[in-house]
Amino acid sequence: MSKHSFEPPRPSHTKIVATVGPACDTKQQLADLLLAGVDVFRINMAHGKPADQEPRLARIRAVSEETGYPVAVLADMAGPKIRLGKLPTDELTLDAGDTVCFVRGAEAVGQEPEGQARSEGSAEHTVHYLTTNYAPLVDELQPSDRVMLADGTVSLEVEAVSDNAARCRVVQPGLIRSRQGVNLPGVKLSAPALGPEDRENAVWAARAGIDFIGLSFVRSPQEVRALKGLLAEHGSAAQVIAKIEKPEAVERLEEIVEATDGVMVARGDLGVEIDIARVAVEQKRIIAECNRRRKPVIVATQMLDSMQHSRSPTRAEVADVANAILDGTDACMLSGETAIGRYPRQAVEMMHRIALATEPLCREGPRAGLPDLKGQDIIPITEATVFAAGRMAEELEARLVVVASATGSTALSMAKNRHWVPTVGVSDSPETLRRICLYWGMIPLAGAPTVESEALLEHVTAWARSRGMLCSGDRIVLVAGTGLKVTAHNMIVVHELE
Ligand code: PGA
Ligand code: MN
Repeated sequence: MSKHSFEPPRPSHTKIVATVGPACDTKQQLADLLLAGVDVFRINMAHGKPADQEPRLARIRAVSEETGYPVAVLADMAGPKIRLGKLPTDELTLDAGDTVCFVRGAEAVGQEPEGQARSEGSAEHTVHYLTTNYAPLVDELQPSDRVMLADGTVSLEVEAVSDNAARCRVVQPGLIRSRQGVNLPGVKLSAPALGPEDRENAVWAARAGIDFIGLSFVRSPQEVRALKGLLAEHGSAAQVIAKIEKPEAVERLEEIVEATDGVMVARGDLGVEIDIARVAVEQKRIIAECNRRRKPVIVATQMLDSMQHSRSPTRAEVADVANAILDGTDACMLSGETAIGRYPRQAVEMMHRIALATEPLCREGPRAGLPDLKGQDIIPITEATVFAAGRMAEELEARLVVVASATGSTALSMAKNRHWVPTVGVSDSPETLRRICLYWGMIPLAGAPTVESEALLEHVTAWARSRGMLCSGDRIVLVAGTGLKVTAHNMIVVHELE
């Protein structure tokens, strides 16, 4: 028997999303990450306008073209993320008992330019004047509200609100930096999930052919539908990834999952907006709901955080990635690790290695049965065919499953049914192939004939043989359609190689 391995590295079933930033911005660096196992590149609209992201997107597409590896792009909309203005010094220490006054722009503090802060006071008591990018903040804060800074490590309590300032007391002291995020757990903000700048960015993303659009701080299914509507108006079939990071989203999880195309467990903000002790529990609940609803789900933030500065992760981080996979996530995400860290390639390699080491254990777990064919979002004939094909492939110890998918929805069904035979997804559409990049266990393959089953089998067989994935005597399972009805997959072909 010849060796069955993929070269370069065998893809993991778990997909890897990597955030692009200064640490991986050159074509060479992007290519390194792609070859190390990245399936989706995330560009963060909070750190750059379309004009800055345009060349980045072009580099990603060029690298994909040159390496022959399809890769999807997720553009993350900042949403109503409140940020501090610029501080007088790079870092500012807030001591217990200090006062922080949030003021409107620069007016209340005199002559300082907009977005600045200043501090004044005696040795024992300092008053810090801070501004934010969220103009209505002063109007929307109420006495006894909590304000969290520096990823929740610093907390304030609002004591009094006047026309021009919200005065707060420092409860949990610590260090803050310019333009850090501000979280207001429990405060109902008036800002929509998609502000004017987000709308402009979404229209750019629609026109630029972005594959996935992340919607930050989602609170309701209406917000998801509004973004989908906006994208459709601009002729885009981009998929919306709802980022679960607000208590309102946790409360309305089922409705939001139903409305969206995919979900991100955005643990960074989630861990500040709800009790941090509940993050793991909510992660499991969100993943389970997405799997039930057949929606792809990404676990994000701090997965290998210490690798921003270190060549190897902590044991706890390795366990975190492994546990997300065991929870049933489709994808794991790297943020600062690849965007600004010192070891972006090593972080991707590490995530890939953890996935390969963990996946055999998922295989031993209890198996999901055929999903509820009366469930929403499900095409019953396709779902049953795909389910049977996966089981058949496993029983026959097939080496490969092939599925042709016009829009990607059959590939997603295949992914959500979680069988363990490597599965190639083919499509005429480059957009669909890129979409498939996020789907668990699916290997997108470009350039295959998709209408005629025999030609498709021949093409994929030749491709797989040339990569050492198939040899004589191996079995291959093809999921196809009789063509009687264009959209339905209703045929399974099993072939044994001569
Ligand atoms: P962000 O989202 O990095 O865009 O804030 C992810 C998170 O909050 O975890
Ligand atoms: Mn966030």
